[in-house]
Order: sequence, then C-alpha cells, then structure tokens
Amino acid sequence: MKDSDWTRILGWPGYRVYQTEVDEKAKTLKLWVRRKAGTKKRICSGCGKHVAEIHELVEREVRDLPWSEYRATVVVELCRVRCPDCGPRMEKVAQLPSKAPFSKRFEEAVGQACESAAASQVARRFGLAPSTVRAIDLRYLERWSKSRRKPVLKHVGIDELYLGKSKKFITVVSNLETGEPLWFGQDRKKETLDEFFRSQLSAMQRRRVAAACVDMWKPFQLSLEEWVPQCAIIYDKFHVMQHANKAVDEIRRSEFFRQGGQKRALVKGKRWLLLTRWVNLSEDKQQVLNQLFKLNRRVMKAYLLKESLEGLWQQADELAAADYLANWVRQLRWQRLPAFEKLAKMLLDHHEGLINAYLHPVRFGVVEAINGNIRLLLRRGRGYKNLRYLLLKAQRMVATRTELVAFRKAA
Ligand SMILES: [Zn+2]
Repeated sequence: MKDSDWTRILGWPGYRVYQTEVDEKAKTLKLWVRRKAGTKKRICSGCGKHVAEIHELVEREVRDLPWSEYRATVVVELCRVRCPDCGPRMEKVAQLPSKAPFSKRFEEAVGQACESAAASQVARRFGLAPSTVRAIDLRYLERWSKSRRKPVLKHVGIDELYLGKSKKFITVVSNLETGEPLWFGQDRKKETLDEFFRSQLSAMQRRRVAAACVDMWKPFQLSLEEWVPQCAIIYDKFHVMQHANKAVDEIRRSEFFRQGGQKRALVKGKRWLLLTRWVNLSEDKQQVLNQLFKLNRRVMKAYLLKESLEGLWQQADELAAADYLANWVRQLRWQRLPAFEKLAKMLLDHHEGLINAYLHPVRFGVVEAINGNIRLLLRRGRGYKNLRYLLLKAQRMVATRTELVAFRKAA
C-alpha cells in the first residue's frame, strides 16, 4: 500500500503518513505521520497565536481508532515553536486535545461508549483500565460542556441528595425548564447554596431568576432571600409529599412497634405499601392495606390524610388552594397524630410558598426526575469520587436522553 493510501484511510486532516509498521502476529499497526507540505505556521498551545519559527521537532505516540482487527498507534511529529510571547512551546494539534496518549477521536469513541455502558464494561471492550476510561470520559464531557451554550436560568430547582456515608449530603441545583442539573455542592448549608449564586451566576443572571422550587429547608430559604430576593419561593409537591410520607411512616412505627405477635407479622414489609398512592396500587395490594387498616385506625387516618394532601395541587386557583389547606389542617383536630400536627405546622409556616405554585407555573417533577437520574448513575458507576464528573454525566444524560433500561435490568 502506498503512503498516500494510508494517509487517505487514516484521515487526519492536515497530516500525511510517511512510515508504517504492521505486526500481523500481535495485530498492531503503527503509523508515523507529519504535517502535509505547505503548513508553515503552527499554533502556539500557550496563547493560540500562529507562530512561524520552529524551535525543535519531537514525536508523540497516541492510540487511535482501530483498523479492522488491528490496534492502531499513531506517532505524530510535533513542533515546539518559539513563540514571541510564550517562549518555546508545544504546537496545538486538534487531534491531540490532552497530554494523555490518545487521539481526540479515540477519546470520543470511549466517551460515547460510556454513555450507554458502565466504565468497567467499556474498559474491557477497549482493553483499558477502568480508571483510564473514567479519565477519558471526564475529558470528553468537559470538552462537550465547553462547546455548548448554556440556557438562561429562570426557574431554579434546589434539592438535597444523600450520597452515602462518606459524601453525605450534596446540594443539587437544576434548571427546571431544561430539566438538567447545573451544579453540585458538598453539604446542604446556607453557605453551600451561597457558593452557587456567587460562583456560577453573574449579578445580571441572578436578577433573571424568577422562581425557585425548594424543600422547606431554612438554610436554602435564607440563601435565596439574600441572593435572589425577587425570586418567588415555591415548595413543590414532591418535597411536601416526602414530608407527608415521613409522617405516615412515623405513625406506622409508633403504632405497631408495641403490638406484638400476629399483628406485628401482618405489618412487616408493608412500609412500601403505605408510602404508595392508592391509585398506584393493584387490587390485591389495596386488599392488604385494607387488612392493615382494620387493625389500626390511626394508621388508616394517617394514610388518608396523606392521600388527601395531594389535592392541594389539584385546585382551580390559589384561593381554592388556600381554602383546601385550611380545611386539611382543620381535619387534624382531635386526631392525636403528632407527626401530622408537626407537618401541619410546617405547611402553615410555609403557606405562601405552597400557594406560589399557582402563581408561578413551573415544571414539577423535574427535581424528582433529576434525583432519579443521579441515583441511577450512582448505582451504575459504583462511587463517583469526583462530583464534577457526576454532574457532567447527569447533564449529558439529559442531553442525550440515554436509554438506561438495559442497565436497570442488569443491576
Ligand atoms: Zn504563545
């Protein structure tokens, strides 16, 4: 094969193959390339300027896409330029985006594979170490992130996520309109969210934030009031219902803990049922719950109260919603359900933010979906030590709407 054929098949723009080595036994292919004649000026990697003066020539070896069954390595002749501003510097080459021994398109192939498979699987396929695959994937995602435009943030979602014993809680900030996570911060303090507003948004961008969906969590509220005072705070259904579920669970535990024997056995493993909405239960599961309710009226009341709280988001307007909430709280009288009394107090204290859902229509369920995506990534990835990597993964997931069904099955 002629050098010009090798050059055509390799297809590195601006480069030509001048030497090759094929090892049929090891199934490896090595190609030496250099700039095509006529390329006089090189780009300085320090400042990006075109520089004509060459300091020295060096070689760099990178792994490239395979050729059929052959693993391909490209040895690139590179110039160190003598830049008037930076001094001797390596030239910038599009196919060599980092110092790692891989071509850009090889990294892209690995990064794309990581969109639908776990790093360990990709590692096996490419014959790389899993840590190398993760490093390539991170660079691939960083390049993607740099190249795309970021939409205006008008509706912000703020949530906390428990990552386990070592990482504990992180704060997740998301764009509710695009449905993508924007930022992760360690911890869930006021200072955590302050850091987002300070480091991620300009004063002008902060003024454009019109609404925030948050949990009834004081530190976040304080941060919002300080950094985006014009923004309407909305306590979304997802978070409120989480609190309601917690109240049901508290009552379940206190009611059945002291009951021994047969009754206790009936309750065992029913926690999930109590936390599921009635409409989402199959007929036989509803039967099981009915059995449980016969045993204990207070658990039944708690369940019904939780169910009826959903109605707060099904009203015609904010006035009807305010009435609905008042009635719901009134129902609690004489019920002796302390967990729900606590919840009612919380709801009344955050009354305005609950009604705001009617005045500022934002996409609900986004926070919940983002939460689910992150959990899925965590289950698949086995420990993201790097929060930035986890964030980019979650963003890319939204951008590509990767189907992860296959993984859910494998897990
Ligand atoms: Zn320079």
